Amino acid sequence: MYECGFGDCFRLREASQVDLYVDFGIHSSSWAGKDKIKRFDNVIADMNEKKDFLLTHYHDDHFNGAIYMAATTTHRFKEVYISDVWNMPGSVYVTLLTLLRGIFTKSVILGENTIIDFLENICTRCGRIHFISRGVNFHNGQYIALWPEKNYVARKAQRMFEKLQVEVGKSNLEEIERIANRLNEIVIDLANDNDGISKNYEVQFNELRKEYLAVQKMFDNLHGDNYYNNIQYRLTRFGNEISIVFQNYKADRNVLFTGDFGKKRNWSFIETNQDGLVRMHSWYDVIKIPHHGTDSYYHSFFKRTKVTSEFMVPNGYINQHWNVSSKYNVDSIKKKNSTVCAHNTTCLGPACHRCSCIYPNSYCDI
Ligand SMILES: [Zn+2]
Ligand SMILES: [Zn+2]
Repeated sequence: MYECGFGDCFRLREASQVDLYVDFGIHSSSWAGKDKIKRFDNVIADMNEKKDFLLTHYHDDHFNGAIYMAATTTHRFKEVYISDVWNMPGSVYVTLLTLLRGIFTKSVILGENTIIDFLENICTRCGRIHFISRGVNFHNGQYIALWPEKNYVARKAQRMFEKLQVEVGKSNLEEIERIANRLNEIVIDLANDNDGISKNYEVQFNELRKEYLAVQKMFDNLHGDNYYNNIQYRLTRFGNEISIVFQNYKADRNVLFTGDFGKKRNWSFIETNQDGLVRMHSWYDVIKIPHHGTDSYYHSFFKRTKVTSEFMVPNGYINQHWNVSSKYNVDSIKKKNSTVCAHNTTCLGPACHRCSCIYPNSYCDI
């Protein structure tokens, strides 16, 4: 586990397997400037020649390090696993909502950290894309996904889109829908022919970026700055809801990774194995707590932890509202399990139980 402030980067190592990196990014409000670059450089300096990547979801605190890596070094990820929201009936809506969030958070204007930048950097440079959804077994049979459940995502995306049409105006979404359609086509193409180098994708990505910027300007002209807070919030939550949740496939050391996954109803789908596709393990040795441990994404792992279990909480150096939920502390005191937290100072509050902070190191072996 690397210390990335409010951001995620995990390196999953197994003898005789290629390393799998799970997310690589830092939230801009936790680390910035030189510190951020220094941490990215630390992570990259440790990398082997061969490595694969899993992006839990399309938020830049989970991928801006990967863009930095591709842009400034010769390191590349080979097999790239992404949440499968591209290959189903409602795909274009999911893509549209992801793109729209980029506009409402101003990521497009700030540059270099939109979904288009990620896909361009990762997908057109030697990587092969694999779509991950519930029940899919991946990385040489090592892991299996518990989420996203495609039907749920498709239905939800369509509903959100229809509501947005009313709120933002139908005609104002036409251009972004066109961009979403094209992006979908490119990504599916890349995943199918498994050889992004052969076609001229960079040109296409550049065009899309220009058009995307134009749509951002249009929205800025229409409404100025503060209009979209509520929509932005909903879009961000939706982005988290489509996180890949996964666990080890074979009986071994049980691990659970949760991205920024949330929502009671969806957790209960997973917990009760509603579709009979994947059963959770009855307990885990290591759990990556969802959404940086914040209170509004709290989920109880009480039943699935032991005294020897470790929680990983990638939440360091952030404004107070995003602190680690004290509920994890309450659970852990009862269960006596321990926690590794990311913090570039020692832990200030009582949030993490039996906590070992990564600081002053840049990573911790778990
Ligand atoms: Zn996040
Ligand atoms: Zn997120």
